[in-house]
Amino acid sequence: SEQRFSFLSRTKQWFSRLGATIQESDQITDEMWEELEDLMLAADIGPNTTSWLLKRLHQRVEEEHMQTGSQVQQALREELTALLGKPTPLHFSQTSPLTVILVIGVNGSGKTTSIAKMANRLTNEGHKVILAAGDTFRAAAIDQLKEWGERINVPVISQSPNSDPGAVVYDALQAAQNRGSDVLIVDTAGRLHTKYNLMEELRKINKIIQKFVPDGPHELLMVIDATTGQNALLQARKFAEHIGLTGVVITKMDSTAKGGFAFAVADDLGVPIKFIGTGEKVGDLIPFDPKSFVSALFA
Ligand code: GDP
Repeated sequence: SEQRFSFLSRTKQWFSRLGATIQESDQITDEMWEELEDLMLAADIGPNTTSWLLKRLHQRVEEEHMQTGSQVQQALREELTALLGKPTPLHFSQTSPLTVILVIGVNGSGKTTSIAKMANRLTNEGHKVILAAGDTFRAAAIDQLKEWGERINVPVISQSPNSDPGAVVYDALQAAQNRGSDVLIVDTAGRLHTKYNLMEELRKINKIIQKFVPDGPHELLMVIDATTGQNALLQARKFAEHIGLTGVVITKMDSTAKGGFAFAVADDLGVPIKFIGTGEKVGDLIPFDPKSFVSALFA
């Protein structure tokens, strides 16, 4: 598993240092708390989550009469794991033959790549996947999804740039039915930051989906780039509150020392992290497992 988590090496530097600092103190001192705070912020756990965690640890030290740094470290590992919640795999429809997954994310976040990675993964697991190029605003987004589709041998339903995303989704639902697909992944708008009304667009798309699949959509995932840190989180929270987000995919965990961002995401958005992106290749996506993630950070 060392190998499996090599993508975390840059983030690990903080946690292994953090581990050492606490581990060495056979007393719980103010210096230790300060260093703990500095390291948590350096790993990009974020100010809110860091202060919440510190408060919780202080409370536990008192309640459980902890004496040593290593007891605090153990408590920290437990609290970090609890913060991430239980592993939450993709939800598949129990009642309809088709599961529909909507994916949103700011341009450049790694949305298209993550959709291809998920499609490839599901295909390997035996699902019959189809993709809809619903991010119709940028011609490049459509082309890129089509390229991925060819590479991983998954059909992509698309229309010309600037066409109605709802019409693309309608086509894709019909195609899914005709081909007997069991998973449809819809690439939707990448314009989260403009005045553009994503909420309205999603409402329309949902209505169309429900004509074909009454219990759909089954997932609404937001792709978030780990390297953009706390700023991205502010924006994500605004959407999470209004659109019924069911999970997030955190990308580029391999290119950041700020992987502690995952804790801020889970704490702030209150939805599970479903996958993390660990590189640019199609296989570089792993289902998120809180326990092994935390273990790997301290290893
Ligand atoms: P989109 O505009 O959100 O659809 O973003 P893309 O899917 O085009 O990805 C933007 C860039 O990020 C591309 O160069 C991808 O190869 C890269 N990328 C996506 N996910 C990851 C990841 O997990 N790790 C790394 N290192 N790069 C990634």
